[in-house]
This record gives sequence, structure tokens and C-alpha cells, in this order.
Amino acid sequence: MLSNDGRVNPSSAITGQSGSATGPLRLGLLVGDGIGREIVPATRRTVDTAAGGAPVEWVELPIGADAIASHGTPIPDETLDGLARLDGWILGPHDSAAYPEEFRGTLTPGGRIRKRFGLYANIRPARAFPGVRAAVPGMDLVIVRENSEGFYADRNMHTGSGEFMPTPDVALAVAVFTRRACERIAHTACALAAHRRGAVTVVHKANVLPLTTGLFRDVCLEVAAQYPGVRVDTEHVDAMAAHLVRRGADFDVVVTENMFGDILSDLAGELSGSLGTAPSLNASDSQAMAQAAHGAAPDIAGRNRANPTALMLSAAMLLDWLASRRADDGLARAAGRIRSAVADTLAAGVATADLGGLASTAEFTETVGARILRR
Ligand code: ATP
Repeated sequence: MLSNDGRVNPSSAITGQSGSATGPLRLGLLVGDGIGREIVPATRRTVDTAAGGAPVEWVELPIGADAIASHGTPIPDETLDGLARLDGWILGPHDSAAYPEEFRGTLTPGGRIRKRFGLYANIRPARAFPGVRAAVPGMDLVIVRENSEGFYADRNMHTGSGEFMPTPDVALAVAVFTRRACERIAHTACALAAHRRGAVTVVHKANVLPLTTGLFRDVCLEVAAQYPGVRVDTEHVDAMAAHLVRRGADFDVVVTENMFGDILSDLAGELSGSLGTAPSLNASDSQAMAQAAHGAAPDIAGRNRANPTALMLSAAMLLDWLASRRADDGLARAAGRIRSAVADTLAAGVATADLGGLASTAEFTETVGARILRR
């Protein structure tokens, strides 16, 4: 569930239940490509500092370009099998467009993980932080993106791809919308809104896609009717893009299908400051993965310029999710320490280049760590 300060505790939002896992926390670490090599270690350090007396056991698993070099595939079976045995995962960005031809057009590593483990909810807060110049000051919304079907043809089929070419000059793609997937994501959004400002906006394009996105809209409205404290309205996706620019501070929880959610959340992230500050959590009823909303940013990779904020805040979302599942207040406090330290660091004007600042990734991370220790 997300509170007004962007805190996430989504296990009840997703399932209405919390789990009972116990024992030391074992987290998977998937470094990925591009700036992943900088922001993933920075996030690991930050989590270790915040966890204090409750050490985290990290299990690094191969993924991305390094895994192609070592295992001949960007997402080895060893990685997928290893993830199943861990409590939660932190995934760095992957630059799948740069992989050799044979791996392009297949499901991306992140997509494989989301499909294999049924991570159906992608929760993407966009919040304008004090101290960060935002195109939409006051933005504090959460995009709840359906993560398993919709217009993403590469994950819509049991086998094969929903994108295909019957002739060299004709390309087709299959969109999938099921009542079950619409219902569960609508419940996630409504439960989340009930713990925030109580408003859900359902984003669709039913004027031109009345059967597919119309089903999404109608099922979301049916589900919302079960939440008397939640106000609901609907918007076409194109209008929603304009509304985010013009009055993005007016929205609370926005629920939408997979591709609309991907696009709108990048827009919202940038409007609230920078893609570099936009976190996300991918979750099912039993597993969760922290993953920044942004990509591998190859243009700045290896230059100590990347903003680790998004992945640090994603890790805080994961800790909150785990705190709820394990009924562990210590994890919730660790998550809170990360969020506060990142917010204080930004408010103090310590910023990476994407925010107009001069701090390197390493300097930003050090400042966050020092602020965690000072609390
Ligand atoms: P993908 O398709 O994987 O989401 P993309 O190529 O569409 O990736 P990103 O890699 O997300 O786009 O980033 C777009 C641009 O935003 C980058 O080129 C980079 O300049 C900037 N950017 C993204 N993330 C960060 C970050 N964490 N820190 C600084 N700049 C960033």
C-alpha cells in the first residue's frame, strides 16, 4: 500500500493478505546493463546501511549483457531458478536493444521475470520532491500499471509472440485483455487509493478500442463500486497525457493497461523532476521486485553521473512490501530511513546532473548513507 509520502506497502493492496516468511532476509541482486553497474551497487550499499543490525544476505545472479557473455543468454535458467528461492529482488535496468540480433524480438529479461513469476502489478509513484525543480510541482501520484497483458504482444501468448508478419509487408500484433487481470489490477488500485487520497482515475481508449480497453474501463468501474470510500473517474489516454502536463498535481492513483502505463509513468516521472527519481515495484501476491522506472541510459553509463534515487526508492518499496509480508517493523523502519535520507539529500540541494546538480553517483550515495546514519 502506498501512503501519501510515497511509502509502499502493497501486499495488502495486491492481495488483502500478508505472508508469514521468516528468517534472515535474502535478496536477489540483478545488476543489468548500462547505469545498472553504478546504481545497483549504490542501492545495495544504501539498503545495507538502512538495515543496520539486521544484515541482508545478497545473492547476485547473472542477467543482461554479462549473462550473454558468460551463459549465452541474457536471462539464464540459473537466474530464474535462483530468484524463486529468494525473498525479493532488485533488478537493474537492461539495455536489450543493444543485445546481439538473435536476442532482440524475444522477451526482455525484465519481461521474462515478470511473466515467469506472474508479477501482475507494476506500481509506479511519481512525486515532486522539495528541492527538485519539477515541471509539475506538487505532483504526488501513483500509476498502477497492469503488467501481464494489454498491448505488449511479446508476453500475451502461452507460447510464441503475439506480434507476427504474415507477409514481409504486413505486421500484426495481438492485444489481450482478460476480466481476471483487469479485476485484480483494479483491486490493487482501489485498495491503494483507499490508503491515500481516495481517488482512482481509470485510463483507457475506449472511443477507438471499445472491446479491449472498454473491457478494462468497465471492469475497473465495477470493482471501484465495491470501494465506497474511493472516488473514480475515467480518462482517455491521450487526454490523460495532456492533463498530466497541465494539472498533474490533481491526480492520486491512476490505473491503466500495460503500455499506456509504461508511457504515462515515464511522462509523470519526468514531470515530477526526472526519470532518475521515479521508482517502481513489480509484484504478485507472493513475490516482488524493485526496478527503477527508467532504462539503462547508455548515454551516461560508466561516467558516475547516474541518479540512483529511483532504484533506492524502489528498494524502499520492496522493503515495505516485505515488512508487511513478514510482519517485520524493522524492515518498515529501514524503508522509512531510505526514503527520508533520499528526500533530505535532495532537499539539501545535493543532486546529480539530470536534476541540474553537480553530485556524482558516488557522492550522492555517500550523502544518503551519511544521512541514514545520522538519524
Ligand atoms: P528503456 O526503453 O529501457 O526504458 P530508454 O532508452 O527508453 O530505456 P532510459 O534509459 O530510461 O530510456 O533513459 C532516457 C534518458 O533519460 C537517458 O538517456 C538518460 O539521459 C536519462 N536518464 C534515465 N535514467 C537516468 C538516471 N537514473 N540518472 C540520470 N539520467 C537518467
